Amino acid sequence: MNFLEKYKKDFEEYDNMEKDFIDDDLIWSQLNKWENPKPSDVRQVLKKAEEKIRLDPEEMAILIQNKDEETIQEMYDLAHKLKREVYGERIVFFAPLYISNKCANNCLYCGFRTSNNHITRKTLSMDEISDEVNIMINEGQKRTVLVYGESPETDVDFICDSVKQVYNTKNKNGEIRRANINCAPLSREELKKLKKVGIGTFQVFQETYHHETYRKVHPKNTIKGNYRWRLYAQDRAQDAGIDDVAIGALFGLYDWRFEAMALLYHTIHLEEKYNGVGPHTISFPRIEPAIDTPFADSLKYAVSDGDFKKLIAILRLSVPYTGMILTAREKPEVRREVIPLGISQIDAGSRIGVGGYRESMGNKLPDKEQFQLGDTRALDDVVRETCEAGDIPSFCTACYRAGRTGENFMGYAKSKFVHNFCMPNAIFTLKEYLLDYATEETKAIGEKAIENYINKIEDQKQVQFIREGLKKLENGKRDIRI
Ligand code: SAM
Ligand code: SF4
Repeated sequence: MNFLEKYKKDFEEYDNMEKDFIDDDLIWSQLNKWENPKPSDVRQVLKKAEEKIRLDPEEMAILIQNKDEETIQEMYDLAHKLKREVYGERIVFFAPLYISNKCANNCLYCGFRTSNNHITRKTLSMDEISDEVNIMINEGQKRTVLVYGESPETDVDFICDSVKQVYNTKNKNGEIRRANINCAPLSREELKKLKKVGIGTFQVFQETYHHETYRKVHPKNTIKGNYRWRLYAQDRAQDAGIDDVAIGALFGLYDWRFEAMALLYHTIHLEEKYNGVGPHTISFPRIEPAIDTPFADSLKYAVSDGDFKKLIAILRLSVPYTGMILTAREKPEVRREVIPLGISQIDAGSRIGVGGYRESMGNKLPDKEQFQLGDTRALDDVVRETCEAGDIPSFCTACYRAGRTGENFMGYAKSKFVHNFCMPNAIFTLKEYLLDYATEETKAIGEKAIENYINKIEDQKQVQFIREGLKKLENGKRDIRI
């Protein structure tokens, strides 16, 4: 069967829709209305943000259009404060695992696109998946996102098998405890299969929410050419019982201000339709150069570092309870600057070629098949730097494994849960990392970070609980979580 034919019936649901929830004209009218907000308008919005209430699009437009240096600094300060209050002093760590670069689509910006003859195509076999996972485990990884092109070779049954293979690969004290998925949009029936194998988050980036730009960068005769099939990917996941979904936009395709507003509209759509459950995380990758991909080298809408910083603070202020992922596409200096403004998850020690973990062991430089990584430091280096910056690196997977996702998770996240549960879990998983994988230098700095954190806790019962957990880990117990 022609690959496009596969979803022909499913597409009908969206072809017959009068409109979708992204209204390009409305977004621009809101941005234009607030072209020059007064500092008092900005402060009014910050007052609401301080209450940790999700902002409305017009309020976000005011922050986006703010050009006043003094109130921009107030935005950064509040974003940092909210991040600390909602997520505590912790950053969740993960690393991607590229399973296949075979792709039937032709996205102009991506090195995996079908018309690119300059990369070697490969899908990992089950043994090769275990090999990659073993290397990741030995570096200390506990969480991954599995990445696939869109190809008949990596259909949903293959994806399910690969997830099982990842979970079944164990090594001494190590294992991957949570596998998120970044793959093409799927049908409800296919998503039900994914749910059964215990995936973590189901993640699909819309790339650009701007209808016309979407058409330009995704050729019509490809599955990805269907804007609405992609736009409603998270709805179908929710319908199929996957209540942990993630959204994102690829920055550089269209005006960043429009994409930020659209991400908020997407969040509101999901919250309204699914009982208050919005996306678990938002991603905002910037386009990076890729082999034989001229589009990525001359971007009309390239986002400057300054605007990127603003974008991150604005998202933090607008959706205080949604996780925000910053990937290793960004250089270390950019990461250092923006993480305090609202980032809850980062990847580290990442390799993005198919088979990249094995290849990098032979000291081969990471390739830039799909795009070029900005931060190629080892996991150990980033863990150490995070501890030095006063944060606790977390490899925690407790919520997902205890069923605290979707509606349940939203309830928890809005309480003091993060401080009482996530912080101890973060400390336990950091301790595991320090005992099993860290260099001596990182171990010393990590232990100090744990002590510093414990010394600040006022509740002595919690201190005792954490100390007991740490003792058990030192005595050989693993995977302690609450
Ligand atoms: N094939 C699936 C899809 O397109 O949804 C998932 C895998 S795709 C490799 C994952 C993401 O990589 C895409 O959603 C896109 O946002 C991002 N990406 C593609 N080309 C990129 C580039 N040149 N620089 C940075 N990110 C890129
Ligand atoms: Fe394929 Fe995804 Fe790359 Fe598009 S972004 S070419 S769908 S791998």
